[in-house]
Amino acid sequence: MTGAAAAEGLGKRFRNVDTWVFDLDNTLYPAQCNLFAQIDRRMGSFIAESLELSLDEAHELRHRYYVEHGTTLAGLIQCHGISPHAFLDYVHDIDLGVVEPAPELGAAIDALPGRKFVFTNGSRKHAESVAAKLGVLDHFEDIFDIHALEYVNPKPTREAFDRFVGAHGIAARRAAMFDDLPHNLETAHTLGMTTIWIDCRAMGRPEHVSDEDWTVLPDHIHHRTEALAPFIAAIGAALVDDAEGQTPAELQSRPYLT
Ligand SMILES: [Mg+2]
Repeated sequence: MTGAAAAEGLGKRFRNVDTWVFDLDNTLYPAQCNLFAQIDRRMGSFIAESLELSLDEAHELRHRYYVEHGTTLAGLIQCHGISPHAFLDYVHDIDLGVVEPAPELGAAIDALPGRKFVFTNGSRKHAESVAAKLGVLDHFEDIFDIHALEYVNPKPTREAFDRFVGAHGIAARRAAMFDDLPHNLETAHTLGMTTIWIDCRAMGRPEHVSDEDWTVLPDHIHHRTEALAPFIAAIGAALVDDAEGQTPAELQSRPYLT
């Protein structure tokens, strides 16, 4: 496909989108900065200290709860009555120095027509700190976080998505969602959202290992990119071109473009 044809394809695929939804960890900031590895380590040491386990045992439990409960925190609450505030404050006490300001990302998000949200299984405080460091915080209407999901209803549960779209009056069929974890996009796809997978397989991190053998993408992944900012910039540019090719009557049905 030529560059022009690809751009036209993007314009058509995204022309009806009026809401842009971004995961935070390994999506808004690049997996290369290894911030999530710090969070992983803090989760392990929190569990080791709280439950008096060795670090190896704690990491094994962390992984088991992530698989069985959707997040480590959900497992800790349901099985041990751990305080979510104590856990989240501890695991997000990390060095944000590895997150670089991302003016290209800010400009690309700004150029997208419509509402923008962060939808994360982390805390609002963590998301605000990271988004501020990236320089993109002001572009978001809201951050829908794990407190809003009451800890035990994280992505990818249908309950999480229903709460999110319900709270903000979002029409799922006019929303696009960006996430590095394919199972989160599966629920988004089921609801009718357009999905964009941030492909982190090159990083070889444990949470992305299960996707490594894909040669053909599953149906619930509509688009794939390894670099968020240029991909969004391409969408924004394609939408401008797409709008120029439409009649005034057609554009009237797209008020979110202005
Ligand atoms: Mg993520």
